[in-house]
Amino acid sequence: MTKHEIKIAFTDFDSVEELIPADLQLCLEAEKALASSHSPYSKFKVGAALLLKSGKILHGSNQENVAYPSGLCAERVALFHWSANHSDDPIVSMAVTAHTNEFPILKPVTCCGGCLQVMAECEKRQNSPMKVLLYCIDGPVWVLDGVDSLMPFAFFEERLVQST
Ligand SMILES: [Zn+2]
Repeated sequence: MTKHEIKIAFTDFDSVEELIPADLQLCLEAEKALASSHSPYSKFKVGAALLLKSGKILHGSNQENVAYPSGLCAERVALFHWSANHSDDPIVSMAVTAHTNEFPILKPVTCCGGCLQVMAECEKRQNSPMKVLLYCIDGPVWVLDGVDSLMPFAFFEERLVQST
């Protein structure tokens, strides 16, 4: 028997104002993306913004549907838009934030497992990690160097063939 331990690293900033300008800007873009959220059921808006290598910024927001499983998270709305339209322009960083009028949000929202899996595949396709900025509008920002820190056991296509 061998017991393993995985350590992850992230940087905790007290406020968005402490970030370098490009990261600060991307967090504010994620905040802008909240406006397009369609979330009448949860009343929980999520915004995502991608910074591409060219400097282009893409927005995504959570899109709910009365048939609940038909909806999609902000991160995947942004990532699938990138995949369909801009996949030759690598993602440098991704910012995610959330807002609701129902209660104060005191910590950054973290991505769900489904989004992490898609983020991991986007990184693999572009052969470079994306910085992840988890932004709490009135609180801290958590910054990670790549998706591996959030999902070290992502599923990749190598698993679809017999390993030796
Ligand atoms: Zn998600």
